[in-house]
Amino acid sequence: MNFFPTPYPDELLYSTLARYCMRSGNIREIHNFEDLFGTRDCIAAMELPTQLDALIRNMPVNTKYTAEYFIYKHTLFPFLAAFIPPKRADKIIQTMRNGEGAVSYIRIGLISNSITLNKYFRFCPECFKEDIERFGEPYWHRSHQITGVFVCSKHKIHLYNSTELIRAGNRQRYIGASHENCIVEKEISYSNDLMEKMLWMAEAAEILLNNQFGFKEPEWFRSQFRVKLVEKGYARMNNYIHQKKLKQDFVDFYGHEYLQLVQSPVSKNSGGWLSDMVRKNNRTTYTVRYLLLARFLDIPVADLFNTKLGFNNDEDENNIDAYQELWDQRLIELAQSGLSIREIADVLKSSTKTIRKSIDRLGIEPFWKFNGGGKYLRKKYTDTKEFKIKREKFRKKWLQLHTRYPDKSSNQIRRKNDGLYAWLKKYDSEWLEQNYRRIKTVVSTVDWAKRDAELLLKVKKVIKEMKEGKPERITWTTIGSKLGISGWLSKKREKLPLTREYIDSVVESMEEFHIRKIKWAIEELERQGKEITLWNLAETAGVKPKYMKIISKEIQKVLEEKGYELPL
Ligand SMILES: [Zn+2]
Repeated sequence: MNFFPTPYPDELLYSTLARYCMRSGNIREIHNFEDLFGTRDCIAAMELPTQLDALIRNMPVNTKYTAEYFIYKHTLFPFLAAFIPPKRADKIIQTMRNGEGAVSYIRIGLISNSITLNKYFRFCPECFKEDIERFGEPYWHRSHQITGVFVCSKHKIHLYNSTELIRAGNRQRYIGASHENCIVEKEISYSNDLMEKMLWMAEAAEILLNNQFGFKEPEWFRSQFRVKLVEKGYARMNNYIHQKKLKQDFVDFYGHEYLQLVQSPVSKNSGGWLSDMVRKNNRTTYTVRYLLLARFLDIPVADLFNTKLGFNNDEDENNIDAYQELWDQRLIELAQSGLSIREIADVLKSSTKTIRKSIDRLGIEPFWKFNGGGKYLRKKYTDTKEFKIKREKFRKKWLQLHTRYPDKSSNQIRRKNDGLYAWLKKYDSEWLEQNYRRIKTVVSTVDWAKRDAELLLKVKKVIKEMKEGKPERITWTTIGSKLGISGWLSKKREKLPLTREYIDSVVESMEEFHIRKIKWAIEELERQGKEITLWNLAETAGVKPKYMKIISKEIQKVLEEKGYELPL
């Protein structure tokens, strides 16, 4: 080449090459390809042209242009590749520089099968006029050629199809914009509502075209979206996503008509691009869809790339930390309550070794260290003022619990207050005995039928309670002990046909019980905003790993029903 036209602002390289061809004086089109690329084996591509290194080599000497300059400033690469991982972006750049033929957009994952790219070159009638006034000729703008962009952001009017096909024939011709192919036959108008959305998309697309944000892994964007999904109540910390609510609000936000126009419809049925995007999934989808979701979630385009969005608290960062913290707090309480290591280990269902280690780790000064340290050398702990204060406090707490739960027995109450009970049992057992509430067994002249009927009601109530709180296995023994009639109930079952039949219908096998515990644990973790992992489930449910294995299929089923993804 002994000349090369200066690319205009926002001009497609394709368009600049078309202007070259017009001025080259070559009679046969194919000679233009030889001038430009040194070969005939080339294709005139609009979005992502190839053989750019060859083009630079054939430029007039001392050219200031580089392949990268064209790629970023005069092709659709910055838009189409905005959301792909760095490695793939490099590969595409390599193909644009040295590859032959056309780039397959689907194969390189820039668009999916569900997107149909624009068929015709598009133009803005106002830009067309202005370009002629300013440069003496019209040209193809790259920002007008994006599939999913319908308006000129500068003039805020609709873009029109030219008569020039983007993918026609052997694609060995470059054809510029002209009065012949840029004709407005019929004015297009859309409602203000649609216009507003179209304008926003045009502006967002332009931000991508005019910036080099740097490429990111899919995980980056997923995390960005997730933060906002949680913030806006569409997801929970534990990865649960309210797909139905998300879809509904998304459709309400954009409207079906607009979503159809940008080839990204969302239906209520399961699946679809929106569900895929917010799930754990590393596929890249069409740029327009990222922009739609970002807009919906109020994430400015630049922030999506440049600002790492995060939660205010880092609760989700490490649930194990949160659990550990609770456990530590509990240990501190217990250690200060005067219980021995053995007793604390029992309460926390842990080993004495673990308790000792943790006490060292936390630097707790437990009561027994004081004692050993000489503070109570001449006095018994139970003679100290501290002890009396503590005893007062604990007695008061015990009585308060009984006032708060008038229907519960002490047995039931101590289950949730094991530290308190253990302390009183150790240091104040006489008082505890006097203030221990037992649900009384009715023994008198026996009307078994009446008793059966009465008992049935009580049993139903107890079972209902057992199903509501933290799961306890439903067996004859547990029901009996709840009612304070554990031995008696089993022994007399033959005399209680109604009660027996009912209990037999609800008693659980170990496996059933474990599954119920898992279901409960899921809800519990959800309530606490903790992540649902097998570890957390086992921990919260109190199901041992070997049992988790036995019921693993059922666990999977339960999780699937609740909309969690597997494997966790
Ligand atoms: Zn315009």
